[in-house]
Amino acid sequence: MTSQIPSLSYGMPNCPSCSKQGLVLTTKDRVACIFCDFRRDLATTPPKKPAKNPTSDVWSVFLLLLIITFLIVVLT
Ligand SMILES: [Zn+2]
Repeated sequence: MTSQIPSLSYGMPNCPSCSKQGLVLTTKDRVACIFCDFRRDLATTPPKKPAKNPTSDVWSVFLLLLIITFLIVVLT
């Protein structure tokens, strides 16, 4: 359950509401925009999409099988 929380030292991402770089950390897990009234609690941010993408899992398995097949063909 490690979420990528942007650090201030790396610069904050643009505000999703006004698209300006006005996001600041107000508390440890809260960001607010200084240009508009956008606020977000990072601790309770609802996930936009499932963290795990099942399609990429299928592809990585497929790729692994492809590599193994390739190695068998090359080595035999
Ligand atoms: Zn804003």
